[in-house]
Amino acid sequence: MKLPRFTFGIGDRFGHQGQAQLRALQNVAAQGVDVSPVWNKSNREHNLIGTEPSSLRAEANEAVAALGWTAPYFVDADHINLKTVDRFLEASDFFTIDVADSIGKAPDPAAVERLVARHAGEPLDFPGLSSPILRGREQVTAAAGKFLSAMQEASEVYRHIAARKPAGSFAVEVSTDEASSPQTPAELYLILAMLADEGVPVATIAPKFTGQFNKGVDYEGSLTDFAREFEDDLIVLKHAGAALGLPEGLKLSVHSGSDKFSIYPVINRLVKRHGAGLHLKTAGTTWLEEIAAIAGSGEEGRALAVGIYADALTRYDEVTAPYATVLHIDRSKLPSAAEVASWDGPRLSRAIIHDQSCPEFNANVRQLFHVAFKLAAEAGPKFTGLLKQHSEAVGEAVTGNLWDRHLKPLFL
Ligand SMILES: [Zn+2]
Repeated sequence: MKLPRFTFGIGDRFGHQGQAQLRALQNVAAQGVDVSPVWNKSNREHNLIGTEPSSLRAEANEAVAALGWTAPYFVDADHINLKTVDRFLEASDFFTIDVADSIGKAPDPAAVERLVARHAGEPLDFPGLSSPILRGREQVTAAAGKFLSAMQEASEVYRHIAARKPAGSFAVEVSTDEASSPQTPAELYLILAMLADEGVPVATIAPKFTGQFNKGVDYEGSLTDFAREFEDDLIVLKHAGAALGLPEGLKLSVHSGSDKFSIYPVINRLVKRHGAGLHLKTAGTTWLEEIAAIAGSGEEGRALAVGIYADALTRYDEVTAPYATVLHIDRSKLPSAAEVASWDGPRLSRAIIHDQSCPEFNANVRQLFHVAFKLAAEAGPKFTGLLKQHSEAVGEAVTGNLWDRHLKPLFL
């Protein structure tokens, strides 16, 4: 399935903000830019919260019906593999096939020779690239050693889905963003060549970019390096898609994309310059709006947020472990549970809300809350009851965050 030019991933861990999220996309549409929502939730999130993929489909359908959204929308089986895909087959029409774990698995030598025979050749110098793509025997063999087994696995997952869903009824994303090192534009080209050979109709691809994409906070790294790499990637996609016979409209996907405020102007400018498409995935930023809004909406909410923070400190290793590679928490800058308990609700909100100009904002506190959603799930009806009780304030915060801080700088 071909994707619209612009798609925007909206994770909603607890499933209450579908309409509030969709309102942000209506705001963009009102400005004349069509951005399609993709509700995403990973297997890990479903397991931590105790939900099934059908609940995400229900949420998306309900929001779309309630707000009269008539443009396309999607439900993403986020970061699935062969072991986890089955529970998503019915509810999803967008599959993010994650093959990062298989990067570096030794490939079959005969398959490497076939890849060399098909794709080794003179350097490719697409107009605008910062340096030509070298694809001699040496480079192709090296790329095969890193990525060929992973892309064969992506093909296996794709065929598993295709055997169970009607042709043209789902979109395919391949993600390698959870790899240990970034993929260069030249590697991206060869990865696409492998996917094309394997017959995977990839609509969007999520490489690991240079720099740190930590959860819920801004980009860490060189903006110049990011801009050069991102532009090279866009140029590779523009030319490689057609040359390799991949679907028209093949586009880049940016994972852990929420709150990367410093790179949004770069992405905006380069996507426009190249007439490119974009998928950008957000998730935890919505849960953070929920807990910040609840904390600021009365004593009950404040007490719950204070309790979650205290528990998160006590169970620090447990809550941070699944996200260890995408967190940058300076534990010496985390206030004690007693100090946080002494704050009033609005003060606690300001520590969490991602306003870098606010002196009370604390990126360490924010990241700890980001991974502590499991503790809100444990609080059960106490938490969801507050979400319902303060649905107006929470919904406004969720819409405002996606619209003002994300969609406006990215697409307008
Ligand atoms: Zn990812």
